[in-house]
This record gives sequence, C-alpha cells and structure tokens, in this order.
Amino acid sequence: MDQIRVGVFGAGGRMGAEAVRAVERAGDLQLVAGVDVDDDRELLSDAQVAVDFTHPGAVMDNIEWCAARGIHMVIGTTGFTAERLARVAALCEQNPGVGILIASNFSIGAVLMMSFAEQAARFYPSVEIIELHHPNKVDAPSGTSVSTARRIAAARAAASMGAVPDATVHDDGARGAVVDGIHIHGVRLQGLVAHQEVLLGATGETLTIRHDSFERTSFMPGVLAGIRHVVDHPGLTEGIETVLGL
Ligand code: NAD
Repeated sequence: MDQIRVGVFGAGGRMGAEAVRAVERAGDLQLVAGVDVDDDRELLSDAQVAVDFTHPGAVMDNIEWCAARGIHMVIGTTGFTAERLARVAALCEQNPGVGILIASNFSIGAVLMMSFAEQAARFYPSVEIIELHHPNKVDAPSGTSVSTARRIAAARAAASMGAVPDATVHDDGARGAVVDGIHIHGVRLQGLVAHQEVLLGATGETLTIRHDSFERTSFMPGVLAGIRHVVDHPGLTEGIETVLGL
C-alpha cells in the first residue's frame, strides 16, 4: 500500500514537533515537510494531508491554501467558532474532494471520558467538572471542559432533567464558571499537564470519571487515526468520535 504523504504546519511548536515525530515513526505515512511561521508553505504542496497545530490567527489561511490545492487537513489548532466552522464547511463544498477534520481534543482517553460523562449524565441529578492544567495555559475554562459541559447539559435536557441542585446564594466565585448550567472549576498547578474529572452525584453515591494526560504523545494516536481517516472522508468532520467509531 502506498504511504500517505503528510505535511505539518507549526512543526516548530510543541504539538507540531510531536506530530512530525509521530508521522516519521508510522510505517504507512511519509513526512513531506514540516513548516513553521517563517518557512515557505510551498514545501507542503506535494502533501496529501496537512496537519495543523499553529495558532487561531494562522489556521484559516492555511485551510484556504490547502483546500485550493486539494490537500486534506487534520486540524488541532483551537479557536473554531460556529462562524469559522461554517466557513470551513463552505470551503469543503467548493472543493468537493477535500476532507477536513477539526478536533479540539485528539486524546482518545479524553474523548472517551466525554462520551462516558454524556452517557452517565441522565442518571445523576448533580454534576460538576474540575479541569486541571499546567500554569502556562492561557485559557480557562479549558476547551475540553466546555465541550464536556455542553454535552452533559444536552443529555440532561434530553432526559427532561432540571437544574443541578445548588442552594448557594452568596458566591464570590468559588462555584466556578457556569456553562449551560454546569459548573466548571479550573486548577492551574505546576507539575500538571492536562487532566479532568467529572463528578456525578445521586442519593447515596457518586461516580467520578477522570482522565489524565501526562505528555503530548498521548494526542498522537488520535492525530494518526485522523490522517488515515481524512483521505477518504471528504467534507468537514468535527471531533474524532466518528473516526474512533464512537
Ligand atoms: P506552540 O505555540 O508550541 O506551537 C505553535 C507553532 O505554530 C509555533 O511554532 C508557531 O511559530 C507556529 N506557527 C504560527 N503561525 C504559523 C503559520 N502561519 N504557519 C506555520 N507555523 C505557524 O503551540 P502548541 O502548544 O503546539 O499548540 C498549537 C495549537 O494546538 C493551539 O491552538 C493549541 O490550543 C492546540 N492544541 C490542540 C490540541 C488538540 O488535541 N486538538 C492539543 C494541544 C494543543
């Protein structure tokens, strides 16, 4: 079988460098080139799939460049608003052979954690999320915790559950951020990488679902699965759930 030719945008960054190493190690993939901000992206013009771990300010331009050349994309860069996703979907329609996978989390464990939390949500009146990360993270709450909260809230709404029980009247911020009615608590601590707990509570019992990511290599099985998926799945795919058969 022919190897899939892969290029990486953001190759000098933390995630991009890891993606370069993962592609180089995979027998069915061939690294065409890795480019960073000062490199000529023409180096990627022979790639079948481009991986993007750059910056919200750079990714849309890379998508347009790739779509115009028929290059599929696997994108981990964050910052995709509904408006941006609509623009990407339109680009896919204009370039019908092109597949673009955008995932805010390539960790298989994190995706399973969200899926399990969504499954459990309708059985527990109480639920809270604690997300814990290294202190260099600039955004809070984390994108993963926001996605988890939205999915839990949607599952609760589908089961006609009301608000989570909470008698708090005076809150000086200790109850955390609230996304779709679900409380999220952010911890920033040296020594941590990326971690999340979903605490679910009912009368007389609790269920805790916890995921820990200790290093960036944990994202790579999801990225590689995405590369293999996107070559024969044209159009926009959001998240790696379908890639994993969830
Ligand atoms: P980073 O700052 O270490 O790396 C980003 C790299 O992109 C830098 O080397 C930068 O010079 C380069 N870059 C910027 N503009 C570019 C351009 N136009 N062309 C080529 N390279 C360019 O950041 P990081 O920690 O590797 O994260 C990158 C992105 O991935 C962020 O948006 C982050 O939130 C996201 N991320 C996603 C996941 C996931 O699972 N989806 C996991 C971790 C991080």
